[in-house]
Amino acid sequence: MVNLSQLNPQQREAVETVDGPVLVLAGAGTGKTRVITYRIAHLIARGVPGDRILAVTFTNKAAREMLERVETLLGRRGGGPAAGSRPLICTFHSFGVRLLRRYIERLGYKRNFVIYSESDQLALVRRILGRFAGGVPRVDPWVVLGWLSRWRNGDVALWQRLDEESRLLAERVRSAYEQGLRACNAVDFDDLLLLPLRLFREHPDVLAECQERYRYVLVDEYQDTNAVQLELLRCLVARHRNLCVVGDDDQSIYGWRGADLTNVLNLEAHFPELRVIRLEQNYRSTNTILRAANALIRQNARRRPKQLWSRRGEGAKIVLRVYADEAEEAAGVVEAIERKRLLQRVPWSAQAVLFRTNGQARPLEMALRRAGVRYRVVGGQSFFDRREIRDVVAWLKTLVNPEDDVSLLRIANVPPRGLGEETMERVLALSVERHVPVYHALREAMTSDRFTARARQAMVGLVETIEEARRAWSLVGPGTGSAFGAEAWIGFFERLGYFEMLRRSEKDAEAGENRVQNVREFLTDLMQRGNGTAEVEGSALDRLQTALETVTLDAERFEEEEQPAGDAVTLITMHSCKGLEFPHVYIVGLEEGLLPHARSTLEGTIEEERRLFYVAITRAMETLELSHCEGRRKYGDRTPCQPSRFLQELPEEVLVRVNSGPAAAPPVDSARDWFARMREAVG
Ligand code: ATP
Ligand code: MG
Repeated sequence: MVNLSQLNPQQREAVETVDGPVLVLAGAGTGKTRVITYRIAHLIARGVPGDRILAVTFTNKAAREMLERVETLLGRRGGGPAAGSRPLICTFHSFGVRLLRRYIERLGYKRNFVIYSESDQLALVRRILGRFAGGVPRVDPWVVLGWLSRWRNGDVALWQRLDEESRLLAERVRSAYEQGLRACNAVDFDDLLLLPLRLFREHPDVLAECQERYRYVLVDEYQDTNAVQLELLRCLVARHRNLCVVGDDDQSIYGWRGADLTNVLNLEAHFPELRVIRLEQNYRSTNTILRAANALIRQNARRRPKQLWSRRGEGAKIVLRVYADEAEEAAGVVEAIERKRLLQRVPWSAQAVLFRTNGQARPLEMALRRAGVRYRVVGGQSFFDRREIRDVVAWLKTLVNPEDDVSLLRIANVPPRGLGEETMERVLALSVERHVPVYHALREAMTSDRFTARARQAMVGLVETIEEARRAWSLVGPGTGSAFGAEAWIGFFERLGYFEMLRRSEKDAEAGENRVQNVREFLTDLMQRGNGTAEVEGSALDRLQTALETVTLDAERFEEEEQPAGDAVTLITMHSCKGLEFPHVYIVGLEEGLLPHARSTLEGTIEEERRLFYVAITRAMETLELSHCEGRRKYGDRTPCQPSRFLQELPEEVLVRVNSGPAAAPPVDSARDWFARMREAVG
């Protein structure tokens, strides 16, 4: 049996109410995630087979950690019952991938579909906008992507406001987008949820199988589910109704991604028998931190009132600092981190720096490096997710194995050679019809009068490029005296016209050149790996294959994995920090325009920005430092900044204001000496 004595009575009720729908609605740090974890363990201990349980978490990392805790609670670590009956703990999107890998053929896709990263999606939208250039005024592809996503997720309001002509255009863009995906046997992030829902709706047998399989469904961070996710959940639990969701309406921060607060507020409408459980004791933070959080969030009109308290004492006051600019701010934060570490023996890993936008990480990274502080950035874009790296890998994989459909479809028209989406979709259809790889279908299409002469010529061009390169590279080997390394591959992409395409794909010449540079670096690194692992024998093509195998480009890598553990400071955006906790937290850049973000004033999402700040504050367990700058460099110029309006909403008595003028903090350049002296002094 699982020991439930480490839960308070309300938590215990939530864990023990195993049948029927349960909602735990409670503030930050009150043990909601703990409830989910204990509940899974409790179900298994009561004899429910693990694999009948599905728990949805917000990140893959959270999922892994939860699984570990469950196994600890069950006393299963290091031996114990076989892994066969493990619960499925994953994100909504991984759950979608899992369903699609199993059933996607029912929807007319090939099983080895590929998942488009954001940069792939963006490239597709750019191509489409280019094609419709005449009719589309200069629009930002990012914005279009955002619209498409909202539209595809059922938000029609946006489109209803358009005039007739724009709506027609929008519809063409949407259908070109969907066709573009289909042509590459690709799905995007939204499809990972939309397609499973379609499966459930169009294939009742699939739904019945899943309902039978997942008898108990649990959801963490429920406040950030969107309409499609709720629909998926409703389908899954329609028969057994064993749904347990936990969430906090005050922490809903994904409205821009379609998350819908009313999902929380209206759950009762869907489940009249819903048992609602509230938790008010916070186990994470000091009362000082909670007082700040409570006062802040009280300013939001649309919420269910709640008041957090804790037994962790008053704790230190919240420090509020003003810096001249972002470089000084970064240096100041690093100094505070090192002070804690050297004087109070607080490890780096117990400290985290939170910020509103990804770009704010850069000055921090520079200051941390200068001071020799180890850190990890959570939530940034992985090198391997970059569009140019994925293109190049797809090309190389095609050369190694032209029957790799996914890679071939990706590169068929990269750089553009007149094999547009429409043509490739027809080639793909042919391959599905004949049950052959796309490459074979392509060779058949080359001679088929079902395709235009222009398309056929483009196909011949592609096949010849692939065949020639394969022939040439398989002849090159040790002893043939020919060039073997990265430079030869770089030459290949140069001749292909790929670098030219990269250079032209960006408005900004430097950005294009950066992409070219990324490819060069990647190829150099790849060939070194190949040389390190492959036998001396074998052709260049064999070596390439070995090298590629060392690159794990897992299709499911759409979510940032955490970098290796160890003692390191965490740099993280406010959006990514949900559910986490750190003893010492620094929140930087608390300025109008950053938080609340400039966009939010226009879009009327100030309350969501306030919730974001609330999430950030409530990550802190012991100490919290806030800071803002008087000015910030933007494209070389220094622009003045106003402190965030949210700072005025914090009660004065929990704050200590420190004016970190140049006199208080050591000048940036001498920071290193200062740290050296500190280290020496402390030993
Ligand atoms: P968030 O809203 O930020 O996701 P949460 O409600 O999920 O927070 P948890 O992360 O589950 O809260 O718990 C916060 C901290 O309090 C954790 O360190 C957890 O171990 C601890 N905790 C929760 N409940 C108890 C309890 N009954 N006794 C002791 N510690 C607890
Ligand atoms: Mg949680």
